[in-house]
Amino acid sequence: MEVRPEASVCAWCGSELGQRHTTLVVKAQTAMSVPECDGVFVPFELTKSSRTITGFFLTSNSAKRQGIDVVFATCSQRCASALRAAVQEEADNLGLIIS
Ligand SMILES: [Zn+2]
Repeated sequence: MEVRPEASVCAWCGSELGQRHTTLVVKAQTAMSVPECDGVFVPFELTKSSRTITGFFLTSNSAKRQGIDVVFATCSQRCASALRAAVQEEADNLGLIIS
C-alpha cells in the first residue's frame, strides 16, 4: 500500500518516519462514504485517549473495492497495534471500521 510522502510522522506517536523506519500502515473503512475527503489528510479525534490521529483518504478505487478507505501510517508494530485498538474502541464515534 502506497502512503503519500506527506505522511511523514507516525499517526500514533508523532515520531518522524525516516527512511530507516519501516512504515506500517493501518487500514480502515469508513462507515459512510465521504467522497469529498478523497485524497486528503483528515484528523480524527479520539476522545477516550485524548489524541488526534491523522488518516489519509485514498483515491484508489481498487483499494476501496477491498474495503480500504483510509490509511494511517505508523512507525512500529507497537504504534500500529495501539492505533488499531484505539480506533476499534471508538469505532462508533469515528465512523471507522478497521479493515
Ligand atoms: Zn509511532
